[in-house]
Amino acid sequence: MKWDLDSIFPGGSESKEFAAYLDKLQLNVHTLNEKVTAFVVPEQASDSKEFEEILQLLQTVYMEVSESGSFIACLVSQDVSDKKAQLLQSKISQQFAEIQNVTTLLEQKVTRIADDVWNEILQQPFFERVQFVLDEMRTQGKEKLPLEQETLINDLSVDGYHAWEDLYDRIVAKISITIEEDGEEKTLSFGQASNKLSDTNRDVREDVHYKLQKAWKDQEDLTSETLNHLAGFRLQKYKHRGWKETLKEPLQLNRMSQETLDTMWKAIENQKHHFVKYLDRKANLLGVERLAWYDQDAPIASSQSTVSYDEGADFIVKHFNRFGPQMAEFAQKAFNEKWIEAEDRAGKRPGGFCTSFNDSKQTRIFMTYSGTPSNVSTLAHELGHAFHQYVMDDMEYMNQSYAMNVAETASTFAEMIVADASVKEASSKEEKIALLEDKLQRSVAFFMNIHARFLFETRFYEERKEGFVPAERLNQLMEEAQQEAYQNALSEYEPEFWASKLHFHITGVPFYNFPYTFGYLFSLGIYAEALKSGEEFEQNYISLLRDTGRMSVEDLAKKHLNVDLQQSEFWEAAIQLCVKDVEEFIELTN
Ligand SMILES: [Zn+2]
Repeated sequence: MKWDLDSIFPGGSESKEFAAYLDKLQLNVHTLNEKVTAFVVPEQASDSKEFEEILQLLQTVYMEVSESGSFIACLVSQDVSDKKAQLLQSKISQQFAEIQNVTTLLEQKVTRIADDVWNEILQQPFFERVQFVLDEMRTQGKEKLPLEQETLINDLSVDGYHAWEDLYDRIVAKISITIEEDGEEKTLSFGQASNKLSDTNRDVREDVHYKLQKAWKDQEDLTSETLNHLAGFRLQKYKHRGWKETLKEPLQLNRMSQETLDTMWKAIENQKHHFVKYLDRKANLLGVERLAWYDQDAPIASSQSTVSYDEGADFIVKHFNRFGPQMAEFAQKAFNEKWIEAEDRAGKRPGGFCTSFNDSKQTRIFMTYSGTPSNVSTLAHELGHAFHQYVMDDMEYMNQSYAMNVAETASTFAEMIVADASVKEASSKEEKIALLEDKLQRSVAFFMNIHARFLFETRFYEERKEGFVPAERLNQLMEEAQQEAYQNALSEYEPEFWASKLHFHITGVPFYNFPYTFGYLFSLGIYAEALKSGEEFEQNYISLLRDTGRMSVEDLAKKHLNVDLQQSEFWEAAIQLCVKDVEEFIELTN
């Protein structure tokens, strides 16, 4: 149950081989910097040799920095007290910032290549392979301000933009509540308190919910400042660039159109009544008239069964095999070659992730396996991510980076296979209900909770254009968005959610919400397709994954699934799979 990191770099954070690798990276960054600075914009297509060399080196440098970053992430996670690894982490962040600056400089030079020369360059073999990414770089570069101004924005954003997120993090760290447990007073951090919201006892959930709400209310003079200012910074940047739509950047990052986004939400809205039925039934089962915000994660049945690690692994491989031998073989390989850190021990960081070593063409999965059915799902989920990387390993590195909305495609797909099989093979009715409910909670999160976040954020940004939006108004906007997104199914909502949800305060990614819902439905749509088709499915699926880094999502769906994302059919078929869960749930709990 422990992973093998030595086959990548022997010796952990003291590794000599890794130190040498970092030196090589630093040297490469230095060379790249010199080359890009000296780079003269080609005036004819035949002058593109230097350009190609720069791009190849750029790919190498990105690959090496990612390989290093992955190694350090693994070290830090397996032992949170590894000080040497933490030092290495700050070293790699510096390298990364430097590479980003070189990339911006290159981007600006690329925008100056004349159109006809550009089109001719793109016909040469190497350039043709990375055409989509290069075109994207050039088009987006043209929509930005001149280099000096963009550099100034970047430099100012350290203290004037990202700092608001840092300040927010400080506020979160100060949030705590006191509860009484077993006759004793206990102080809980925000994270610990949040876990109590899935307690079986309603009094506990209610108590924690109101205490948390009060704690956030006490800070709302501060959190309304952080939220307003980071949004204000973003809007000013857009204004100077001449961008009118707030969604321009998030859509661009996710390589999707406004029409696709609108169609997706509309299809969800049309099917929401099914999920309202589920919420009503759950209220019934909990013995309340309507669910409150703090009842959403309440368990209604407990599944007691535990699964050993080996059983879990066998279950995954067996069910992956039903959809494709390559995926099953890959999972087996990951188990055999010790790519997974699953041991349940002290000193590890919590959570799970999958990280790739692009240079070594390997991946590593991190999690803590304690034998619950949800651990098996997590393991399948991370193996899905690893498989996504595996099928891309031989491609140009530039074509391997995919956006947030398709990043969860392979993982959700893999998880779905295992979750569905678990429901089917559940040993008792209670267990079946618990597993189904787990799936339904996820659907409600994607269709209702995240929809509320999207509605709130869209409206908040419109009002922010006119000036500061005070806390009372933010509360109002949030509550209205929740009522609308949940179709009034709940008895009470959480107006302070704009303050308590970290995602609104992430400066690195705007609109950290709709890509989740997109990804969930996109992979469900693929799953629906997989259930229909036979042996040829896996090859098509692999081709789709390979194109996730070099196409718009509309083209991706058109080419591999033969569907139009701007039409509702695809979305409806995907949602239908979740509606089936509702129906089964209702029947089982009758
Ligand atoms: Zn994931």
